[in-house]
Amino acid sequence: MIREVKMYEAVCDRCGKSSRTKYKTRDFVDICVEVDENWVKIDNLNYCPDCYEYDKETNEYKPKKKLRNDSTGID
Ligand SMILES: [Zn+2]
Repeated sequence: MIREVKMYEAVCDRCGKSSRTKYKTRDFVDICVEVDENWVKIDNLNYCPDCYEYDKETNEYKPKKKLRNDSTGID
């Protein structure tokens, strides 16, 4: 038999990539995806592992610079 199943996934606010893991409820997606796939939540936005870095000065994770001009680091 066939049944429709609604699932939720995290979407990176920087690159638009979605999480590989899908979840049945949306309530804890951002928390679960941090554990399952090492995503982080910064300022209420979700970032995949490719899109954040560790800031040694503040001991916090921060989003990487914008995709454009990534090589120069200039916005
Ligand atoms: Zn990303």
